[in-house]
This record gives sequence, C-alpha cells and structure tokens, in this order.
Amino acid sequence: MAADAAAHGIREVDQTGTITMLSAEQHRPYDRPPLSKKLWAGKPLDSIWRKIDDAGVDLRLRTRAVACDPAARTLTDESGNTYEYEKLLLATGGTPRRLPFADDGVIYYRDLNDYQRVRALADKNASFVIIGGGFIGSEIAAALVSNDCKVSMLFPAASIGSHIYPEALSEFLNKYFREKGVTVLPGESAVATVKSGDKMVVRTGADQAIECDAVIAGIGIEPDVSLAKSIGLATDNGITVDEYLRTTHPDIYAAGDVANFHSPALGIRRRVEHEDNANTMGVIAGRNMAGRAERYDHVPYFYSDLFDLGYEAVGVLDSSMDIVENWVTPYRKGVLYYLKDKRVRGVLLWNTWDQVEAARQLVSMDKAPDRETLKGFIPS
Ligand code: NAP
Repeated sequence: MAADAAAHGIREVDQTGTITMLSAEQHRPYDRPPLSKKLWAGKPLDSIWRKIDDAGVDLRLRTRAVACDPAARTLTDESGNTYEYEKLLLATGGTPRRLPFADDGVIYYRDLNDYQRVRALADKNASFVIIGGGFIGSEIAAALVSNDCKVSMLFPAASIGSHIYPEALSEFLNKYFREKGVTVLPGESAVATVKSGDKMVVRTGADQAIECDAVIAGIGIEPDVSLAKSIGLATDNGITVDEYLRTTHPDIYAAGDVANFHSPALGIRRRVEHEDNANTMGVIAGRNMAGRAERYDHVPYFYSDLFDLGYEAVGVLDSSMDIVENWVTPYRKGVLYYLKDKRVRGVLLWNTWDQVEAARQLVSMDKAPDRETLKGFIPS
C-alpha cells in the first residue's frame, strides 16, 4: 500500500521518470484491511485492487530485492537481476512473528494468499483456532464466526485488546465475542500445534487439546529491516527516517509499517502499522523522492470492525494511561480520551464517526482541557 501510494506521489511531481516496483508478492498491489474486514461482509474481491496502472509503473512481481549497493545506486533481486535507481524507497513492511515451536500448517494471516486459503476453508464451514487477541485475532474471529465457522481464540492476556482498551471495555469484548459464538480462551497460550490427518490439534499451556481444521496466528509483526541493515542504514524498531522520510542515506527513503518516524504532534518517534499511515506517508515519500521537500507531520488514524462494533482512533492508545471515558451507551457508543503527562495522547471514537479531525486537534494540543471540558470536547 505504501509503495503504491508512493508511485502516485512521484507521478504528482514527475510524469515522465521511470518507476520500477519490486514486489515479493504474486499479486499486484491491493488494500490489506478488507482481508480481515469487508471481504467477509459481502464486498467482492475485485474491490481491493489499487490503481497501480494509472501510475505508469514497471511492476515486477514475485521479485524479492536481496542486495543494494548505495554507492553504485543499484539493487539486486534473488535471481541476480540488477536495477539502477536515482532514488530508492524501502516499503518492506513487516514479517509475521512466528510461534516458538514447530508450526507446520499454521496460517500467519497477513496477505491475499492467506485470505484465499482461509476463505476456501470457511466456505466449507471449517473450524478454526485463532492464536492472538490483537487486531488480526479479533477481526478474523469476528469475520469467521459471522460466516458460520466454529471459532476458538486464545491469547495470553486477560481480555481482547487489553493493551489498548480500558479493562471494562476489554472484558465487555470477551463477553460480546462469546455471545456471538466465539469460544474465547483468555490467559491461554499455545504450546504446540500438531497436524493429525486433515485436522490440526492445538495444545495449550493449561493442557487443553483443541482440534480444528485450521490454525490462524496473529501474534504481531517484526519490521522487515534486513535490506536496510545490510547497507548500514540506521534502524531502531524499523528504519529510521527524518521528517522528509529520508533514511540515513540521502538517496534512500522508507515509508509504511517499516518506517520509524518522528511525530511532531506526539513528540515521540514511532512506527505505525495501519492503513492511513501507509497511504499518507507513501504519497509524501513519493513526492519528496521526485524533488519536493514536504514534512511528514500527519497524525494517522486507524480503525477496526468487530461485528456491529466499529471505531476510528488517533494517536497512542495504551490501557495503562489515564483514560477519560464518555459513554453515550456503555461499550456501544462513546469517546475515550487517553491522557499522559497532562496531554491527550490518543482518542478512541467508539461507534462515533466523522470526528477524526477533532481528535487530531486534541492530540496536537500542548495541554489537555480539564476532565469535564474534555468529556464534552467531541460529540458522540
Ligand atoms: P497485534 O495487534 O500486535 O496483536 C498481537 C497479539 O498476539 C496480542 O494479542 C498478543 O497478546 C498475542 N500474542 C503474542 N504472542 C502470542 C503467543 N505466543 N500466543 C498467543 N498470543 C500471542 O498484531 P496482529 O493482530 O498480528 O496484527 C498484525 C499487524 O497487522 C499489526 O501490524 C496490526 O496493526 C496490523 N493490522 C491492523 C489492523 C487495523 O488497523 N484494524 C487490522 C489487522 C491487522 P499479548 O499482547 O497479551 O502478548
């Protein structure tokens, strides 16, 4: 997504230069969020493709870049082909974290191939065990049970999304998922997965053995910094970029999940693994590669859909912060403000729409309004 956005960003500034895109995927660029959301709620597969053809790109699929020579400005792929560049963008994203044991058959849910594999099983009403209670775990559990599949989900924490939602909301999600038919196993971890004919068995820390047709894991990603590291670019939880999205080499930029950037609004360096960041950062990286000098000072938003619950959010959501909650209807509709050091650091717009700009304004303020003013700041 970031690379596609960058190609369009380049074209806004430079209509004639050559753009080559190397992608390890077998598919042309597509949107990833629908893979765990809208494709399970009736949207056709055709809706995910991005308009890469409009950007006049020489697209090389199934092509993994494995080496770079910054002095010669060349890149080499797995087959030994060499590509010259003037400016290079690393939009290498992240690689799913693997389970710490033999994991034959486990689907680490990340790309379109994973969606197609799971879709084929779901169409036969398969049973699934989902490992992880973060974004992938919660969204895919909701999607699959809504498509008449049997679903168990297990994760080490006490409740779904407990790192980002306040405890009561997170506990509500456990209850809500159970009401919708998901077997929720909090405080549990997988210790082994075993293939048994057509079936899989997941063994848990509490010594349960859960049989299913397929195991899906969503236990986070690691930013893919291998190419960047191999040429000595600065990395620290991702590839370090400056405000113009340049790495520590002036010809090389980075954007998307892999880029570690400074957020002026939040006053911290961070990496963001969400769509709006990939799209907006990609465009700005592209424009800058083509000669502009635009700062990336955007405060990206993110969103999730869990059954009929949905939200948009801005900034940092961390359940250990001081959280001011303003519910219209508890856990159904409301706005939550995440405070740290007397500033609003994040806003969760729970079933509350068209308020992302107001939330951005809040997280950019030097000092939070007092608690009562804050409660009414964003109408729900
Ligand atoms: P995630 O949101 O970071 O969640 C990881 C989950 O895995 C946590 O619940 C964690 O639990 C759990 N976990 C870690 N080790 C485990 C283990 N050994 N056994 C069981 N559970 C374990 O990552 P994700 O869900 O895999 O998502 C991957 C990426 O896709 C992220 O970059 C995410 O932002 C992105 N994504 C975004 C969206 C969205 O924006 N709506 C949707 C889908 C995916 P503990 O924390 O309790 O250890």
